[in-house]
This record gives sequence, structure tokens and C-alpha cells, in this order.
Amino acid sequence: MTDTATQMVNEAIDRLLADNPPDSTEPKDFWGAQFDAGLAWVDYEEGFGGLGVSPAYRELVSRRLNEAGAPMWNRIANIIGIGMGAGVLAAHGTEEQKERWLRPMFTVDEVWCQLFSEPGAGSDVAGLATRAVKDGDEWIINGQKVWTTLAHLSSWGMLVARTDPDQPKHKGLTYFIVDMKGDGVDVRPLYQITGEAEFNEVFFDDAVVPDSQRIDDVGAGWRVAMTTLMNERVAIGGNTVPRNSGTIGVAMETWKEHGSGDVGDRRELARLWAEVEAMRLTALRATENMQAGVPGPEGSTGKLAWADLNKEVTSFTVGMMGLEGATIPEGYTLEPTVYDTRMTERILSPQRHFLRARANSIEGGTSEIMRNILGERVLGLPGEPRVDKDVPWKEVPRG
Ligand SMILES: Cc1cc2nc3c(=O)[nH]c(=O)nc-3n(C[C@H](O)[C@H](O)[C@H](O)COP(=O)(O)OP(=O)(O)OC[C@H]3O[C@@H](n4cnc5c(N)ncnc54)[C@H](O)[C@@H]3O)c2cc1C
Repeated sequence: MTDTATQMVNEAIDRLLADNPPDSTEPKDFWGAQFDAGLAWVDYEEGFGGLGVSPAYRELVSRRLNEAGAPMWNRIANIIGIGMGAGVLAAHGTEEQKERWLRPMFTVDEVWCQLFSEPGAGSDVAGLATRAVKDGDEWIINGQKVWTTLAHLSSWGMLVARTDPDQPKHKGLTYFIVDMKGDGVDVRPLYQITGEAEFNEVFFDDAVVPDSQRIDDVGAGWRVAMTTLMNERVAIGGNTVPRNSGTIGVAMETWKEHGSGDVGDRRELARLWAEVEAMRLTALRATENMQAGVPGPEGSTGKLAWADLNKEVTSFTVGMMGLEGATIPEGYTLEPTVYDTRMTERILSPQRHFLRARANSIEGGTSEIMRNILGERVLGLPGEPRVDKDVPWKEVPRG
């Protein structure tokens, strides 16, 4: 970090806050101004939501905006777009694609989802079967995806599809951005332990995607998918959030209201706080090494650690609440997730956080898969046996 860049970022934040006071500016207007000021993803190019500085400045931006009471829930409402889609566009998108999609993504005018997992392809996502067949300047999509978070609210979906079944599984894939409201796309909700349908099944029946919505080369889908997954792991586990925010902030607030004064509980809260803070600082260090849009395997470290730690934090929090911790405020109703200015008490409640945290060790790659990645890519241990790696995909037996 340099003095000149720090000054430039601080001045841009000062101007943004002076021209758009958070308490009297509509969230969408604030986010639009934040994007135009280059403070959406500060490391991206100017004109595309950034100022072209080191990703290390992301923490400065989020800390100062958080302190000023700026609306920051766009990162939750459009977590897949802002946390992952943006990185994909920054690393692999054309200028036209970045111009078309980044701003409405940041302002939550267009929500994004990720169409990777299928009933027969989760951890082994490279084995996926959804087909894309070229027809002139278009691609025709057929197949089924599952566990698609926010598909019911999405305008755009990041789809990995098989374009060449004669190639081994990792080589015959291509990456597209699909219009989720288009013909041939059917979204059906799936309900979770939280009572909401946050994710969905998605069926493609002759859905059409223009070739201009292909990301990177035909056959380069695995490379782009890796960028998406690395960003996802950072979004879940290694984000540069402000100190005392998220579920540890909820734990501290709950302590003020329900803490028993018991020395054991006090010690446990302090231990959890220290672990969360150590993770946060590790994530900050990792961010300094990250190139714009492309995190490395350090995202998997954070994701693995966070999956366990967040379960501990949220369990401790509901434990402090006694019987109240066992009930859901506003009742347990089955409904599709909605994120808006009403961000309800239920969505932000300790009880909902506790239930939602159970998914952290599955979503974005399970903890077993994170350990495999760390073993192979960070520690240099021998790889798992992969007998189907060089076999044409169409010859690999499938259940
Ligand atoms: C809340 C939530 C949101 C999600 N959102 C999305 C989304 O938006 N888009 C999307 O595409 N997907 C999404 N997913 C799907 C998620 O990515 C998959 O569930 C995950 O990758 C695991 O795949 P699977 O469920 O098919 O389990 P499987 O791959 O069948 O795994 C079953 C078990 O076997 C273990 N296992 C598998 N392979 C290995 C191995 N090689 N070594 C050791 N153990 C192994 C796994 O760890 C797991 O315990 C979401 C999941 C959840 C829970």
C-alpha cells in the first residue's frame, strides 16, 4: 500500500459520503454512486467499479463505509454476483461484458446465480451433464441443475455446460451467462432447514444463449469455473469484513442482552472472538497477495476454517439465549428467500444464523474437498487417484 494510493482512496470515500449522505440516500442510489466512484471493487479498472489499486484497499473501503453507516447489504442480497460473478467478469470478461453487467450487479438491479451443481455432479462438478449445442450464433441448452442459490430472484445465471462429450471431462466444458427469465428456463424452489427456499432446482429445456454471452473460449469452461469457485471460497470464508461484524458481532450483542456473567462463558466468547479476528487478519493478508479477480488456494483455507468456526460461534450464541434460542422470531414459515430493505428480523436473527451455518461445510465445496485442495495444491501431497481424468466424458460410466 502506498501513501498516494491511500490518499486517493480516502479522498474518493470522503467525496462519496459527502455527496451521498448514507442516512438520506436510497441504497440503490448509494451503490450506483459507489460504483461510479470506483469504490465497488477498488482493485478493478477505472470505469468498471474500481480505481486500479491493490485489492488490499478493499478493507479500507468496507471499514470506512461501515463506520459511516453506508448500506452494505448488496453484498448479501447479490452474494453470488458481487462475490463471484464480478471476479469472473474481471478475469475473463470482454470489455462489453464488463460494461453490460458489472454496474447493475453492484446496485442489485440484476441478481446473479451460479448453475454448477447437478444431481449427478457436486464435488465432482467437472462430470456435469448439462449440454450446450451450437446453432449458428446461439447455443441450445438442455439439462438440470440443483442447489442453485437465489435462482428465483436472478436475472442472470453463470452456467457451466458440456460442449464436447468426446473430450475428457475437464476439457469439454464451456461457460455461459444465461438469461434466467428466458424461455426454456424453469426454476423450482427447494426448502432448507432455515424454513426458507434460498436455493432451487433449475431445468433447461431448449433454452437459448447467444454466443456473445459465452465467457472465454469454447472448451475453457473449467478454467472459468475455477475462478468462480476460488472467489466463492473467499466470499464464504475469507472476506475482508470489518472487525466485530457478521455472526461474531451478533454473538457480542447477544452477550450484552443474555450473557450470564459466568466466567466460563466469558472465556469462551473471548476465545471465539480471538479466533474470528485471527481469521479476519489472515484473510486481509491473503487479499494483499491476490490479483484482481483471481484468488489463490488461500481462499480454501479460510473457507475450511470458517465452516467450523461459524458453527461454533452460532451455537454459542443461541446457547446463551436459553429457550428463546430454540425458537425462530416471526415463526417458521416456508417461503422463498427475499432480500430487500425489509431484511427481516428472522433473516438476521441468531437462530437463523445458527441453522444457516450448518450449510457452510457443504456449499462452495465440502470441507473434505477443501482438505483435498490444501493437501494437493498447498502442501504438495500426492493427488487422489483420478481414473477418469483422461477418458472421453461420454465413456465414463454414470449412475
Ligand atoms: C446452502 C447451499 C447452497 C448451495 N448453492 C449452490 C449454488 O448456488 N450453485 C451450485 O452450483 N451449487 C450450490 N450448492 C451445492 C454445493 O456446491 C454441493 O452441495 C457441494 O459441492 C457437494 O456436492 P453434493 O451435494 O453433490 O455432494 P457429493 O459430492 O455427493 O458429496 C457427498 C459426500 O461425499 C464427500 N466426498 C465427495 N467426493 C469426495 C472426495 N473426492 N474425497 C473425500 N470426500 C468426498 C463429500 O465431502 C460429502 O460429504 C449449494 C449447497 C448448499 C448446501
